[in-house]
Amino acid sequence: MTNQKTTDDVLIVGGGLAGLSLAAALGHAGLRVTVADRDAPATQLDEGFDGRTTAIAFGSQRLLTEIGVWPRLAADAEPIREIRVADGGSSLFLHFDHREVAPTTGGAPFGWIVENRRLRRALFERVAELANVTHLAPMAIEDHAAEGETVTARLADGSTRRARLLVGADGRLSPTRERAGIGTIGWPYRQTAIVCVAGHEKPHDGIAVEHFLPPGPFAILPMTDGADGTHRSSIVWTERSETVEALLASDQAAFDEELQRRFGPHLGAVRTLGRRFAYKLSLLQARRFTAPRLALVGEAAHAIHPIAGQGLNLGMRDVAALAELIVDHARLGLDIGSPTLLSAYARRRRVDALALSAATDLLDRLFSNDIPPIAAARRIGLAAVGQVPSLKRFFMRYAMGQRAGAGLDLPRLVRGEKL
Ligand SMILES: Cc1cc2nc3c(=O)[nH]c(=O)nc-3n(C[C@H](O)[C@H](O)[C@H](O)COP(=O)(O)OP(=O)(O)OC[C@H]3O[C@@H](n4cnc5c(N)ncnc54)[C@H](O)[C@@H]3O)c2cc1C
Repeated sequence: MTNQKTTDDVLIVGGGLAGLSLAAALGHAGLRVTVADRDAPATQLDEGFDGRTTAIAFGSQRLLTEIGVWPRLAADAEPIREIRVADGGSSLFLHFDHREVAPTTGGAPFGWIVENRRLRRALFERVAELANVTHLAPMAIEDHAAEGETVTARLADGSTRRARLLVGADGRLSPTRERAGIGTIGWPYRQTAIVCVAGHEKPHDGIAVEHFLPPGPFAILPMTDGADGTHRSSIVWTERSETVEALLASDQAAFDEELQRRFGPHLGAVRTLGRRFAYKLSLLQARRFTAPRLALVGEAAHAIHPIAGQGLNLGMRDVAALAELIVDHARLGLDIGSPTLLSAYARRRRVDALALSAATDLLDRLFSNDIPPIAAARRIGLAAVGQVPSLKRFFMRYAMGQRAGAGLDLPRLVRGEKL
């Protein structure tokens, strides 16, 4: 598969969750891949690096299974069996149960809550196992240039590497995207997500809860019990940015009191376990997903509001679609960095990314306010979803990553098929 003149088939800039998943998918399929990240694995696995959990949708779990990552994670993944959506001020709530879509999903849960640190560790281990994948970290990529049939990148140690295709998986600030002259559209949300782990008296029974409150959604996501048997949930608490600093600075008792107020009584007494993290929220779309010999994946291509827990799942569909195109071209002896492949990739991913960006943006606007006519309209909307089973099933299958938006084909890995 590898041209003698090139070092790699694919060089991936950024070994975050999206970049490592792509490296594992391509490496698993026999391609020669280098993935470089500016941070060392030990830094990325540090407790203070990323306090988030990810709601891995059913489709992403299938991908992780196919590429040999899921077996390392399964014991640390808590299934989401039910989702309750509550509209802050009213008593109205919507209830989704995974059994309602069992005929099309085989009874799989909606998804699984996994700590990002565990997911990263599983990806590091899988990539290290693949002889044809080189993982360089810490190693920043400082420059790149496409010329003819290859792309050459300059690394922080002054060395160069060549590949057929460069992939920018270097996050929302993506230096690779900038260098390629790809502009972005987007806006900040004036909201910040406080993320922490809460310990609670009663078990969560696999139920995820999302309270829509005027400053933003407050999500309680079921986690596996701690090593000492503590029942745990991951909290994504969205607040107006100007109030977050005070909340972060408050002492443990005051913070826990605020937490308990938002939880309500259903899980008994609640307390924070470990640190509090804060993430400023913004929406971003790259104007193009490709440039000569370059494809963007994950947040380098699109960053969305976490209101529906779909950002990485969207990135996983990029990974699945790009890996499929690369492997299919390589098998036929075709150029894996060709304009044909790149435009096929952009076509397959653009609609899904735009649709999800628009949907999450709309949801946030609709729910994160207490303006009376909007509050009334959303209550009517929630009641309608609750009353129309086909509409409810549509949302459930979308959340599971089993619809890619606007009737697009799902990539093979997301359908649970081999590459
Ligand atoms: C509060 C919150 C909750 C979320 N919850 C969910 C959820 O439940 N489900 C879900 O699907 N998504 C969720 N998301 C979204 C998800 O976390 C992101 O989509 C995901 O982490 C993005 O991964 P990435 O690999 O694309 O980018 P990043 O994680 O930003 O990785 C980019 C990598 O590139 C590296 N890099 C940058 N520049 C260079 C360079 N020059 N050379 C080499 N390396 C470089 C960086 O070091 C980094 O490791 C959430 C987001 C937030 C903010």
